[in-house]
Amino acid sequence: MNFKAKSIFDFFLPRICPGCNKKLSVEEKPVCVDCLSSILIADEDRLENEFNKNFGSTKVIKDFYSKFVFETDKTLQQIIHALKYKKQFKLGVFLGELVAEGIKTKDWQIDLIIPVPIHHLKKAERGYNQSDYLAQGLSKSLNIPYSGKSIKRIKYTDSQTKLKMKERALNVSNAFKVRQPKKVSGKNILVVDDVCTTGATLLECGIALNKSGASSVYACSVAIAE
Ligand SMILES: [Zn+2]
Repeated sequence: MNFKAKSIFDFFLPRICPGCNKKLSVEEKPVCVDCLSSILIADEDRLENEFNKNFGSTKVIKDFYSKFVFETDKTLQQIIHALKYKKQFKLGVFLGELVAEGIKTKDWQIDLIIPVPIHHLKKAERGYNQSDYLAQGLSKSLNIPYSGKSIKRIKYTDSQTKLKMKERALNVSNAFKVRQPKKVSGKNILVVDDVCTTGATLLECGIALNKSGASSVYACSVAIAE
């Protein structure tokens, strides 16, 4: 869309910052600068700690990166909520691009990006998988293909937010199945999720991909839990 078309579009359907509800100007990103700068960045120490705690002993996930720290009742929660429940797809692409910036600084060799899938019943209810848009943003920015159809979620799991760590792990064990083994076999895969809380979901995706002969599995998320 060119600038003029965008202006006309904004006139009828103004873009609103999901963090502060301020109207965004045409040239602004889908999140205003103030809101964006208020989000806590996940530093190296935190990431290393997170990797060791969630994946370290398993050898399933080769490396892990997350851009932000998820804080309850803060801006990022509103942004992710808007992406998940209000069809703000552009936010997903935008967040994916932000995650990609961090991944570019690493020497990861990635052949394919795969979003963590949601169960088809949940998808039917919500209409989309928010992580597909994260994968799109990553793909665009890293210039690496993505596939939203390579893994399937075969277990319908209830919202994990109220579950304890062990319950979460059980809840997602064997939850995923690789649908296109040929597509992942021998490849270096990057799996993307919105928020990594215990890592159980990313880990299970990694296990399924490894079973199908993936060469290595990297994981990333927009945020890690506080
Ligand atoms: Zn804002």
